[in-house]
Amino acid sequence: MDELLTRMFLGGFVRMHVLYHAVREPIFGVEMMQELGRHGYDVGAGTLYPMLHQLERAGYLTSATEIAGGKRRKYYRATPAGAQALEEARSKLRELVGEVLHDRPPTPSIRTEPESGSAPDRSRKRGKR
Ligand SMILES: [Zn+2]
Repeated sequence: MDELLTRMFLGGFVRMHVLYHAVREPIFGVEMMQELGRHGYDVGAGTLYPMLHQLERAGYLTSATEIAGGKRRKYYRATPAGAQALEEARSKLRELVGEVLHDRPPTPSIRTEPESGSAPDRSRKRGKR
């Protein structure tokens, strides 16, 4: 994953994606890396595990080590706080998708001038360089 892009945006997408799956069922690292790969994210262990630990420290995930077929595997599940955080992030995502993907800004938009614009506002704008 491009480091700058990840730090700027994709890290949040990946954390939200992880939380989404962890709400539905227990997940483990390798499986999650494959899932993210399926979605076009090349996320290595060096990126994913710190994120899992960060989400756990935040109280959004809880982990339990299980032995499956002789292998120790750390499963992560979302906590109720994690599920709640996902719900809140989801409503923000819906809003963002509306504007960024469908050009449907919330109203009033940032460029919507009030029809009967207030005088002080206008004079200040003209005053600027
Ligand atoms: Zn997925």
